[in-house]
Amino acid sequence: MPEPLPSKTEIPVTKTEPSVSMTPSQLKEMLIAFAHELRKPTAEQEAEAAKKKDDLERAKQQKIELVRLDAQAKIDRENRCDIGMGPHRKQNGETTIFQGQIFSDGYYHPMCIRCQKQFPKVKAYPEREGTA
Ligand SMILES: [Zn+2]
Repeated sequence: MPEPLPSKTEIPVTKTEPSVSMTPSQLKEMLIAFAHELRKPTAEQEAEAAKKKDDLERAKQQKIELVRLDAQAKIDRENRCDIGMGPHRKQNGETTIFQGQIFSDGYYHPMCIRCQKQFPKVKAYPEREGTA
């Protein structure tokens, strides 16, 4: 009877590495620190966030400038409302201030039909005496 051939595959020897022991609170601390490390944004994400913030700030400044220009244009238009007959007047000297609509508060809200300047509101009906 022939002798069995020795196996060429060696049985791997498992090396035991030194073990670490820690308390549950130490483990918790370590996991929290690990989670914080994972949540840190990358340089790319930080750059993207900074760019987004810059874009929002630029858009906000543009809106502010548009509102400022619009307000200035309104003031300029009102100041130009004079064709030689005085402010808010037609060629024949009559006023261009329009008081056509009475609002629900009982007041006219006068407005120049040329420059759209709004004037202080005027009571539409005189106070009636004897009414409460
Ligand atoms: Zn006017």
